[in-house]
Amino acid sequence: MSPSAPSPSGPLHGRGRVPAPGAGRFAPSPSGDLHVGNLRTAVLAWTWARRTGRRFVMRIEDIDRVLPGAAERQLEDLAAIGLDWDGEVLVQSTRSQAHRAALERLVRAGDVFECYCSRRDVREASSAPHVPPGHYPGTCLDLTEDQRRERRARLAAQGRRPSLRLRAPAPTWTVHDELHGDFTGPVDHFVVQRSDGVPAYNLAVVVDDGFQGVDQVTRGDDLLGQAPGQACLASLLGIPVPDYVHVPLAVTRGGTRLAKRDGAVTLADLRGLGWSPADVVGWIGESLGIPGARTASDIEEALDLHAMSLRPWVVEPPVGPPHP
Ligand code: GLU
Repeated sequence: MSPSAPSPSGPLHGRGRVPAPGAGRFAPSPSGDLHVGNLRTAVLAWTWARRTGRRFVMRIEDIDRVLPGAAERQLEDLAAIGLDWDGEVLVQSTRSQAHRAALERLVRAGDVFECYCSRRDVREASSAPHVPPGHYPGTCLDLTEDQRRERRARLAAQGRRPSLRLRAPAPTWTVHDELHGDFTGPVDHFVVQRSDGVPAYNLAVVVDDGFQGVDQVTRGDDLLGQAPGQACLASLLGIPVPDYVHVPLAVTRGGTRLAKRDGAVTLADLRGLGWSPADVVGWIGESLGIPGARTASDIEEALDLHAMSLRPWVVEPPVGPPHP
């Protein structure tokens, strides 16, 4: 074909097509105000997405705990430190039809099983030595149809229903993390539909990341252990598995995970002490080895993505205005 011949491969079709860029995301649960550790994670998620040529999307994960007004304040705080996002904010609770459709697909494929255990049953049984900490011990995994019928009836008599758990197809799964390398971890038989019939959080995250075109998940490294199970679920649902970036958490001097009760750690608290959003960005920048940052863009330009320390950020909540 000569260079001047009409080509069927314009921007929308076939050969030569520029793939739509993937997306990074931030997906807070609106259970309270974001603290500096959460804001730092958001800056990092935005930085990773922008620096790797991705879109950046936002999602409010409001299917579990919700504090009225928190989602709006979280978005205001993220905008105040200079983050922007592409498209509308996705509100997870508006997606229940898609979550249910994914559940139906899992049920049809035999990728789930009914679980009749109470939380207490799980807690007690999961201290068994062969069970990874916090994981489901497998109690209801291989019951006969008769046993299931009997347990279903027993629950119904108490006004309860079974939950649905993932029938993990393999004991472990490997994901790729930009900071942690290839990470292999156990796949839990986690709940995909709660006993009240509501699709569970772990399912919603995977389905919604797929819907938003997320192919890069940057979040706190407390969630690294969940990535193998979520990646496995994505594969079962035919959703592309994202690349992960699990970043270190903010902790107190005592080594516990930073919380609001630890002092002036939200934008509102810090404002009350005379800190502007730019001062807070400066503090986050310093924690990443970037002095003098005033905007999220300053951090984005200067951050050496792969050189990031994996040690937690030890936060000393300020008690007065920022140092000049
Ligand atoms: N919504 C979760 C949280 O705020 C984050 C989940 C995720 O990033 O995958 O803890």
